[in-house]
Amino acid sequence: MLVDSHCHLNYKGLVEQQGDVLERARARGVTAMLNIATRESEWDDVLAAAEANPDVWASVGIHPHDADHHPDVDTAKLVERAAHPRVIGIGETGLDYYYHKSDRARQQDSFRRHIHAAQQTQLPIIVHTRDAEDDTLALLGEEMARAPFPGVIHCFTASDDFAKAALALGLYISISGIVTFKNAADLQATATWVPQDRLLVETDSPFLAPVPHRGKTGEPAFVADTLAFLATLRGDDRDALAAATSVNFYALFSKAAP
Ligand SMILES: [Zn+2]
Ligand SMILES: [Zn+2]
Repeated sequence: MLVDSHCHLNYKGLVEQQGDVLERARARGVTAMLNIATRESEWDDVLAAAEANPDVWASVGIHPHDADHHPDVDTAKLVERAAHPRVIGIGETGLDYYYHKSDRARQQDSFRRHIHAAQQTQLPIIVHTRDAEDDTLALLGEEMARAPFPGVIHCFTASDDFAKAALALGLYISISGIVTFKNAADLQATATWVPQDRLLVETDSPFLAPVPHRGKTGEPAFVADTLAFLATLRGDDRDALAAATSVNFYALFSKAAP
């Protein structure tokens, strides 16, 4: 078993060759993929890919970059679409103050709506955070105290302290191909100590192709390269880590059946 916990099969670069992309992933042992939504206009297509392929699951959500353009996507709308049997998570959502493509207050408001949907449905929230550690943690902590919800910090690139705080809130940590980059010493250090039972792996494809595919369009097959790198880094057996991260995926995204 090997799971890509975060990919964008409907983005340009992958959507034109989706069938081949899925076949190449299966050929490298990928048994499940979570196809992540970032805008309301994608929801139908993201879901259609999951309906057509038993090893593809879907999420519903609005990326923090697009918060400004979705004032009408409220908790009720997210909860309604999340009732679909192939939707297993809420997101991606969160805060991105690095690119800052949407207003901060609107990003926070959208993040909260997604958290409320996770609280109501108990589907995990998929959190994107960049240059916004303090606000992300404050919001997650405040809402977790109000009503618990499951979740994952996707494409983790934050600090050790953030990782510890996220784990203390019960959240999982997902490692992307960034961990294979030469300049990723901090992330590599974090990735060595995150407990094996709280770790996921992802591609965030078509972005962030790992070594030895840098410069290419990322695709779910490459999660095998990130997993192998991570196993060496941690001193874990490759197959054992593949199995553990897959078990973790199904423990967190419990609406998905292996
Ligand atoms: Zn993201
Ligand atoms: Zn993403």
